[in-house]
Amino acid sequence: MLIDFHTHTTASDGALSPSELFSRAVDRGLTALAVTDHDTLAGWQAAQSLQSHGVALVCGVELSCLWGGATIHVVGLNVNAKSEELLEALDHLQQLRRDRAEKIAAKLERLGAVGALAGAQALAGDAAICRPHFAHWLVSEGYMPTVSRAFDKWLGNGKPGDIKTPWPALADTVAVIVAAGGVPILAHPLKYRFTRTKLRALCDAFSVAGGLAVEIVNGRQSDAEITQLKRLAVDKNLSVSLGSDFHREWTYGADLGVDVAIAGDISGVWEMIL
Ligand code: AMP
Ligand code: MN
Ligand code: MN
Ligand code: MN
Repeated sequence: MLIDFHTHTTASDGALSPSELFSRAVDRGLTALAVTDHDTLAGWQAAQSLQSHGVALVCGVELSCLWGGATIHVVGLNVNAKSEELLEALDHLQQLRRDRAEKIAAKLERLGAVGALAGAQALAGDAAICRPHFAHWLVSEGYMPTVSRAFDKWLGNGKPGDIKTPWPALADTVAVIVAAGGVPILAHPLKYRFTRTKLRALCDAFSVAGGLAVEIVNGRQSDAEITQLKRLAVDKNLSVSLGSDFHREWTYGADLGVDVAIAGDISGVWEMIL
């Protein structure tokens, strides 16, 4: 059984519209697809009205938050899209994104990239600006050769465009997902580049706050990484989730769909959701 519980659309920093993403899920024979755009339900909302073609659509979101001074992403699945707590949290996150985009643009302008805010907003359309919108605009204007160079030089951690943003605390974010009746999942645990000790502390804090699962697959990962994450989940008594973190067709990225067999006998969030 193929599922994908971590994907993006044009409602955040993905390249496919919600209906294009959904068609791709149908073509690839997925049993279930969660749309988990950054800090918005708009992608799921747009996909909701589509014919299911046998693919179960799960309402999801990927929320930005802070723990130990680092930005952490928590995926919430099967959230009630009418939850007041969730809608209030999303409004706040959208405002933080708007404020941050202005600050990022000001930094880029000082580096010589004139018109960054309007350029990124044009690429984002109705979506709140995400850093990849700036990266793609920098490439399209010839300021940077590739998106990954744009992150390495200007937008990535510790670079000028890495603006300190007062995202909500991890515990509050998990609480919002729980209040919305959803399943809180720690996204891509290895992307934070924490030491093993710090990663275990993050899992403890996440668990104490009400977190239920960790992603053991997020895009392309080595077998060793998957093994490491399975061990972490078992040690910390957390369920597991699987996703491609699909943003666009990309040579180095994963396509939609992960086989649930990867989890072996560890309990998967799909058992709670489907
Ligand atoms: P934001 O939430 O606006 O800070 O943007 C974070 C997004 O940027 C992530 O979800 C990825 O899609 C993308 N991203 C982060 N780091 C990189 C990188 N080094 N290269 C390409 N994309 C990246
Ligand atoms: Mn993204
Ligand atoms: Mn993420
Ligand atoms: Mn993501």
